[in-house]
Amino acid sequence: MNSSSPAPDPDVDLVIVGAGFAGLYMLHAARGIGLSARVIEAGSGVGGTWYWNRYPGARCDVPSMEYSLGFDEDLQRDWEWTERYPTQPEILRYIDHVADRFDLRDGITFDTRVQAAHFDDATAAWTTTTDGGESIRSRFVVMATGCLSAANLPQIAGRDDFAGPTYHTGHWPHEGVDFTGKRVAVIGTGSSAIQSIPLIAEQATHVTVFQRTPAYAVPAHNKPLDPDEVARIKDDYVDWRAAARDTTTGFGGHIRTDPEELPSALEVDDETRRRMYEERWEAGGLTFLGAFNDLLFSPEANDTAAEFVRSKIRDIVEDPEVAERLSPDTVVGCKRLCVDTGYYATFNRDNVSLVDVSATPIDRITRTGVEVDGAVHEVDAIVFATGFDAMTGALDRIDIRGRGGLPLKEKWSAGPLTYLGLQVHGFPNLFTITGPGSPSVLTNMIVSIEQHVEWIRDLLARMDADGTGTVEADADAEAEWVAYVNAVAELTLFHGCSSWYLGANVPGKPRVFMPLPGFPDYKAKCDEVAAADYEGFSLA
Ligand code: FAD
Ligand code: NAP
Repeated sequence: MNSSSPAPDPDVDLVIVGAGFAGLYMLHAARGIGLSARVIEAGSGVGGTWYWNRYPGARCDVPSMEYSLGFDEDLQRDWEWTERYPTQPEILRYIDHVADRFDLRDGITFDTRVQAAHFDDATAAWTTTTDGGESIRSRFVVMATGCLSAANLPQIAGRDDFAGPTYHTGHWPHEGVDFTGKRVAVIGTGSSAIQSIPLIAEQATHVTVFQRTPAYAVPAHNKPLDPDEVARIKDDYVDWRAAARDTTTGFGGHIRTDPEELPSALEVDDETRRRMYEERWEAGGLTFLGAFNDLLFSPEANDTAAEFVRSKIRDIVEDPEVAERLSPDTVVGCKRLCVDTGYYATFNRDNVSLVDVSATPIDRITRTGVEVDGAVHEVDAIVFATGFDAMTGALDRIDIRGRGGLPLKEKWSAGPLTYLGLQVHGFPNLFTITGPGSPSVLTNMIVSIEQHVEWIRDLLARMDADGTGTVEADADAEAEWVAYVNAVAELTLFHGCSSWYLGANVPGKPRVFMPLPGFPDYKAKCDEVAAADYEGFSLA
């Protein structure tokens, strides 16, 4: 620590909230530059998303060789993934290994929720208070609280009246749930539902799926990793990761073509277009949306992809009426594309039924079931696969106050305002990892997390070296950045549906597109800002 720090006697240089990938890497990076740090984590273990989301079928849909930390050559060489898309237990084992390998556990306080973080103008220090009754003073606070960590439980009347057990996919019991002999309701048809429904259906007596908006899902074609392919990747891992960082989404650098070299979906003939979609469908995974360069920009181009997926649903689902109900008529990719293993085919089972609640929402939950349009669907258990108060939810649930006691919630009352998704004007020395206004959830999140942590680390090292006390985003830079993010989002089709990217899944949440499409341009901007001595930030 530089002895000229203006914060008198902080307990620690950094408080980091959250022990997922972001919090763990931030702790390691802070220690690496000689700063002291403490992580506060609500859960009893590390892992974040992968600690909480233990529902059947939970796994990532970015390939394991990419959905992993790249900052340490030995780590990436030593760790052996087993599958193309690893399961939640395998990812959690990996994160546990990372925590042990870098001796991070002694820096983490578990089972403790941060309730407030207040900035004191006089001392330029933050005080973080926890539900354990502790107050910790620090120079910096890093919110590594996660974009998808605040569960969204819909306000359906009678929710607490149900006599049987209820579960949210994001808070799944550690001991697992045995649905044998049970009739199960699943509310929601997003990624978590799509992964869990096929497995719940294999166990339960009956599954009733309550669908408000049908989802587009492309097949995962998950498989064990080929050891030869893994060896080839590891031989070239550094360049391979660099190629991933050059893509819009931070993964698939080895297979993606430069978007400028891809054709428009509208400039090829029907047969070529169908073949190209088939190839992507057969390859499996999220790169389906990379088949053409305009799928997220042109409604007409997008509709060709949407119709292709609908034709697949019609092929897979035997009952034409069920197929029709499962077929979305919205923009594909506007809500996050789902990756499935047997989701649509599950509706061919006798023990699975689909209830469309788009026109007639769920009336209420009764003691014995879910009531829609006056009819009660009797069940023994309810699974809420209803998602998250995304990107801002975890921050909103903390009483964060900046200069002059300004609550972050008040500052963000019309939607999140940030500079680079990293800082908020009026909140000096507070950082958000993968915050709104950064690519975050539109990318392989590990790539975005590493980029944010390393950028923050370099800034803190620079501040520590020259005795800078505070760093704060300028109001002008923030306003320009917010306008830029909105302008970029306006160029896309992301506004064409009620997605969580827009906050539309949470009643009353301001409708603002929160992430920024395009990782490489964003990273270049962050690097330019740093090279220009942190242009747009005031270092005092
Ligand atoms: P998290 O892992 O969410 O960790 C945040 C931590 O902060 C949590 O442990 C939480 O308990 C803690 N916390 C929050 N508030 C407080 C508080 N007030 N006090 C104390 N602790 C607090 N991304 C991809 O790129 N590819 C995928 O395939 C993918 N699959 C996903 C699957 C699921 C089911 C979900 C929910 C998300 C998925 N994601 C995926 C996104 C995933 O969240 C990120 O990839 C990544 O794990 C986020 O790491 P993080 O450390 O930023 O946040
Ligand atoms: P989600 O995508 O937000 O899906 C929530 C579902 O619940 C939607 O179908 C939504 O319908 C429905 N819903 C919410 N309230 C409802 C109500 N009152 N009545 C009926 N239906 C209701 O949440 P998620 O599936 O948990 O996924 C969230 C994100 O986590 C994903 O987009 C992805 O980024 C990540 N994730 C990834 C994977 C993976 O494969 N790697 C797996 C799980 C999650 P509407 O669409 O109509 O709002």
